[in-house]
Amino acid sequence: MKNQKQQDQLQMKISNRQLVLNQIKSSDNVSRASLAKELKMSPTSMTRICGDLSDLGFIKESQGDSKGVGRKALLLERNPHAFYSLGILVRLDFISFLVMDYKEQILAIKKWMLPVAGSPEEVAELIKDCFDKCRSEIPEIMDRVKAAGVSFPGVVSEDGRRIIRSRFTGWEETDFQELLRKKTGLYICLENDVKASVLEEYFHFPELQVNRLAFLSLSIDVGAAFMNEGRIIGGACGEIAHKILVYGGRKCSCEKSGCVSAYLSVQEILNQAEEAGGRCNDLTDLAAAYDRKEPWAQELMTRLGGYTALLIQDMMVWNNPEIILLGGRTVRDLPMLLDEALKRQDILNQDLLKETIICESKNTGNESMLGAAYLAMEYYEKIRLNQLREMEL
Ligand SMILES: [Zn+2]
Repeated sequence: MKNQKQQDQLQMKISNRQLVLNQIKSSDNVSRASLAKELKMSPTSMTRICGDLSDLGFIKESQGDSKGVGRKALLLERNPHAFYSLGILVRLDFISFLVMDYKEQILAIKKWMLPVAGSPEEVAELIKDCFDKCRSEIPEIMDRVKAAGVSFPGVVSEDGRRIIRSRFTGWEETDFQELLRKKTGLYICLENDVKASVLEEYFHFPELQVNRLAFLSLSIDVGAAFMNEGRIIGGACGEIAHKILVYGGRKCSCEKSGCVSAYLSVQEILNQAEEAGGRCNDLTDLAAAYDRKEPWAQELMTRLGGYTALLIQDMMVWNNPEIILLGGRTVRDLPMLLDEALKRQDILNQDLLKETIICESKNTGNESMLGAAYLAMEYYEKIRLNQLREMEL
């Protein structure tokens, strides 16, 4: 056992390696000298740290293409094949995978339509089957996958290990990390699906890297996520689906009345369309009826826009984010929902608050898997960096 001082020094070494790695990740093709200067480290320690990172396979050196005469500077960049990470999205009716290399390029996306139900053991088995299928189809990619992030609808513990509660599977206090690790042999971390989505957008788009970012997801169900200074606010924060929106309102699947979900989940939007006299098989039918200026569709969208504005107002007054993103299937299929919500300045205009930008998320439909893959990447990086500690003990 080493003494406290030596432990602290080791921790410092690991933090410094993470710092340098983060810097290389944010600006690939950077010279050792400029890294040392930016991070205020000595050239000697920079050489040692880069040596360690290169031993781990995370970074590689390349010859810069300087056009002038003289010696070309050696530049550092991430090694895209250091390891790959997998983002897994679990939904009621499908499981999908996204594989990303270490330079965040998407290498493969797969989707299996299947009913996802049963015990944690059974669902872990389903995921393992999908993983095995993938391994036999694209072994050259899957063999490099070291870690997986699972994007899951439900409350996930802040350490990414347990599903605390999920209405969708009925699970409580489930150590799904351990279960899936045993089945797949991968390092696993879990995150709530909406939180994974906002993480992806934050890391991917520099213009979204503000102090307080929030995300409202309207899809099969409704959820929100908040980020403060680059960190997700964890736990049950953002579980708004069964917050009462209309006192004494529509009956909800949870048996209460007037929940957000009873108005803004996909199924309930379709039910309200039918009650209003329109027949819609899906949300795009509703969008088309609105565009044709059918009165029932216009009236319904105005009402749904008002409910959405009320949710945005809640998010504004509790956390006053600089930006609130609206995303999810409903927002993609019904672009007029955001327009209708933004018309409600009577609700949104909060003159005591700092101004909030409200806009559509930049998502493509893959954000929840991408976010999970990012988390897996960071998680595995940390594990490997900590192995440096073991090497020294
Ligand atoms: Zn409810």
